[in-house]
Order: sequence, then structure tokens, then C-alpha cells
Amino acid sequence: MDSTGLEAELQNLEDAGLRRRLRRVESAPGPEVTVEGRRMLMCASNNYLGLAQDPRLIEAAHRAMIRYGAGSTGSRLISGDTELHEALEKRIARWKGTEAALVFATGYMANVALATTLAGEEDVIFSDEWNHASIIDGCRLSRARVSVYRHADPGDLESKIIAAGPARRRLIYTDGVFSMDGDVAPLPGLLEVAGKYDAFVVVDDAHAGGVLGKRGRGTMEYYGLSPAPRIIQMGTLSKAAGVEGAYVAGAKAVIDYLINRARPFIFSTAPSPAAVGAALAAVEIMEQEQWRRDHLRALASRLRTGLRERGWRVPEGSTPIIPVIIGEVGETLRLAARLDDAGIFAPAIRPPTVPPESCRIRLTVTAAHRMEDVDRILAVFATEG
Ligand SMILES: *Cc1c(COP(=O)(O)O)cnc(C)c1O
Repeated sequence: MDSTGLEAELQNLEDAGLRRRLRRVESAPGPEVTVEGRRMLMCASNNYLGLAQDPRLIEAAHRAMIRYGAGSTGSRLISGDTELHEALEKRIARWKGTEAALVFATGYMANVALATTLAGEEDVIFSDEWNHASIIDGCRLSRARVSVYRHADPGDLESKIIAAGPARRRLIYTDGVFSMDGDVAPLPGLLEVAGKYDAFVVVDDAHAGGVLGKRGRGTMEYYGLSPAPRIIQMGTLSKAAGVEGAYVAGAKAVIDYLINRARPFIFSTAPSPAAVGAALAAVEIMEQEQWRRDHLRALASRLRTGLRERGWRVPEGSTPIIPVIIGEVGETLRLAARLDDAGIFAPAIRPPTVPPESCRIRLTVTAAHRMEDVDRILAVFATEG
């Protein structure tokens, strides 16, 4: 009986190989996890620096909860603000080298906040075609005109700016590290175009924070760029930082404007004390423990090189996001099943996350992995290549 009419739709997804199911992890987020009773090598996590299970973060979360409670009890503007939230924002601003920062409960919310607050009907947002879904949704909700430029192409961006004509504000929006391909945005080129047209630039450093740059400050540090009033950096505390939540870092005027105007900030409960306390510890560690980044880069490099040597299609890059491009969905699912049999957790990525012809296995490594783990992944690809 399909009383909702939704079963038929789910069946359509099933028939197309696109139905998704949750897979239950039954252990803490280490390099190996228990998935539905089986020990598996985790190659799908965003826990890039291996901090999600770090005792110092857990201890900091515990201390924050003891002092401030389990919940933050309200919006920051009504009742939910604490000295802990402010301390985290100061610490993030210091790390990023910006005047100020503002935290959000999730990166999705931070992107929706930025797009909808900085852009409206009189404005144009120029968005990279591979930007994250939360940016796309933010663009839609903003009611601004949206112009999508070719992936990582400052030349096309400039043509799109010229074609769009006059606007009150122009906002260029890009992932710093693209989440499905692991490539780094051509930020210097984008900033050059932005300068010519007085545009704001928003860099989503969800996958770059903690990973790129000597101190893990992200895409700006990777290119040796300095903060400027119209450059806004957003990032998550849920990936390399190993916790949850997000931040926007930039000029004080931008942050104050968000506090006054951003609906996801105003109408949503402040991040919980536990998350804020753990994130504060995480930022400190991310900045200081450079060995984590060095080890991560070495693992990623070995995995990329090894896959290429075995004849797999792996785009250039240096980040811990390593896509193995397969093509159509059936073949991708078959490879995913073989990896699964070998105890490697690396789900297939398919539409709508990526275009239908570029289905892939997306492997990620973390600083908690060992070189032997990389060899174990390569062994599976060796037998299939
Ligand atoms: C994960 C991600 C987000 C969303 O962050 P959450 O904290 O998970 O909501 C935003 N942008 C990019 C590029 C991401 O990869």
C-alpha cells in the first residue's frame, strides 16, 4: 500500500540506482569504524585532522557543559550568548587574521545567512558552477539575480559580470576547496576580477580550514593573501575541526551587519556550549599541530600517485579529497560494492551530488590514517584496474 504516493517515487530512485540509505556507524570516529557490525577502514570522513575523537576536545566539551549547561537556551540576541561564544569568535578571528568572526550552528546556515543577508533583489551573486548545495540554496533564498560561472574560471566570471550589467552589490561566491573534486579555487584570479568591479568575495573554506596553509588558515593562507574589507571567509567547525558549527570571518562591519540582519543567526538557537567549548580547543590544536597537516598531505599524495599509477582517473590536486572518476552509475556502484567487500568505507557519489556522467568513488584520508591504510586501499584498486 502506497498511501502517500511517495513509495512510487522511491521505487523510481531505486530503479535508477539512485536510492540512498543510511549506514549506521557503531563506534567512535576513528580511522577504523564499526559499520553495521563490521570493522571498516573509514575513507569517507571529513575528520581531516583526526580531531573528532581527540580527548582534549571531549574534555573541553565536558567542561563547557558543566559550566554552561547542555543547551544554549535561545538565540544569541535573546538569551543564548555566552562568554564562551565570544571567546571562540575572538580565537577564530585571531587564527584567520580578520577583524571579527561570528559562529553559526552549521555551515549550511552560515552560507544561507551570508547569501541572503548580503544580497537581495537589486544585487547579483556570481557563483562557481561546482559550489556546494548550501551556497546554491542561499542564492535561491536571497532573491538576488544569480549568475553561474564556469568552474574555477576567472575569465568566464568577468564575462558574466559584464553581461549582468549594473547592480547595487556584486557578490562572488566560491568554495575554497571544492567538496567533490578536491581542487582549490583560483582565488588570486577571482580577487583580481573582484577588484575591478568592486565585488565582495565569499570563500567557503569548509574543506580548506585546518587543511590548507602552514597554520591551516585555509585558502587565503595557501595563496599568501591578506584579509581585505570585501573578502569574507566562511568555514565549518565540523570537518577538520572535528566538532560541528561554522563561522564567518571578516571585517567588523560585515559581522555586525550579519548580527543585525542574518535570519539564520537571529531566529535560531545559539550553538551548544559543548560544541563551542570543543571548537575552541580544536582551533588551538589546528593552528599549532602542524604535523597533522604534513602527515595528511603525505597520505593524500601517496594515495593519488598510487591510483594514477594503477591507471585510475584521478584529477590533479593536493587536498585529502581524492575522487576516482568512473563515469556511469552502474559501474560506480559495482566498484563501491567491491570496496565494501574489502572492508573499505567509501560510498559512491552520484546524482544529484555530481553530474550523471561523472559518478565517482570519493576517497578521503585523515591524519589519523597510517601509510599502511593507504596501501590497503590501493590493493583493492590494483586488483580492479
Ligand atoms: C560541508 C559543507 C558545508 C556545510 O557545512 P555543515 O557544517 O556540514 O552544515 C558548506 N560548504 C561546503 C563546501 C561544505 O563542504
